[in-house]
Amino acid sequence: MTEPPHKPARDAAREPDAPPLPPGLYPVATPIGNLRDITLRALDTLAQADLVVCEDTRVTGRLLAHFGIAARLRSYNDRNAARQRPAILEALNAGKSVALVSDAGSPLISDPGYRLVVDAIAAGHRVEAVPGPTAAIAALQVSGLPTDRFRFVGFLAPKDAKRRRQLAELAGETGTLIFYESGPRLTASLRAMADILGDRPAAVARELTKRYEEVRRGMLAELAAAWDTAPKGEIVVVVGGRADDDAREPGHDVDALVRAGLAAGDSVRSVADAVADATGLPRRSVYQRALALSNEAPQERGPASQ
Ligand code: SAM
Repeated sequence: MTEPPHKPARDAAREPDAPPLPPGLYPVATPIGNLRDITLRALDTLAQADLVVCEDTRVTGRLLAHFGIAARLRSYNDRNAARQRPAILEALNAGKSVALVSDAGSPLISDPGYRLVVDAIAAGHRVEAVPGPTAAIAALQVSGLPTDRFRFVGFLAPKDAKRRRQLAELAGETGTLIFYESGPRLTASLRAMADILGDRPAAVARELTKRYEEVRRGMLAELAAAWDTAPKGEIVVVVGGRADDDAREPGHDVDALVRAGLAAGDSVRSVADAVADATGLPRRSVYQRALALSNEAPQERGPASQ
């Protein structure tokens, strides 16, 4: 939230003859940095809802105060979701309108809300999106990578072996890949991506819509060497999908994919299956290679939980 408070926008933004909000659940997107990215409809909905469900009442309280909106807030986050859900569903059953927001961006996108939406649908309630900013799409738009097909991955596992296994499963994806990342983990993740996916074009989008917004584009290995210290702020990594001719290219790093699977503790058979699927190479030859690699350097292996 980088903007200084200004004149409350609520009255200017409200549609004068806006009909009352029908009962239902409204996932409402809020800005990912620049407060002027809030939509007029988001302001209408937040002002009119009987209840605003949010991750952190202090964060959303500040946002609403900035726009001169007084709302009833209830917290709903990873720690209390199971406890809070029945009361929110009760409010919906009682005919209330409930807005659902996260701290920033679009709720449900690497943020809470999925189970609440599922339960509200199952109970027959109206569920209507009030769309707006999301970091994944903003990063994709400025990445310079293909936008016609993409896969949103979200956060990779923090532990290296599991992260490498997740990447091995993504190696065959031909659409552009979108990851959420943190500064302290950025370099290790970029290195793992270069090792497992091969050196592909990528973009690191940091602090989008904020004062220190920065987008660096380059090959994965080059980007992995670009920061001497962990960069600050919020980060999205966008990576090109598998090129059509990668699969049968002699240089395709089957060994790296196999080693990543073995290091994560997977069996030779399941590693071979996953790598054959990812690369399009014949199952039998990948199995034989996996078998050979499984007999080398046992110290590289680790338990599946790592
Ligand atoms: N629901 C949010 C959305 O719609 O983008 C994402 C929530 S997730 C918990 C937070 C992550 O989103 C951050 O760790 C970062 O990867 C990404 N992110 C959020 N705001 C960002 C920004 N302004 N610039 C770059 N990445 C951002």
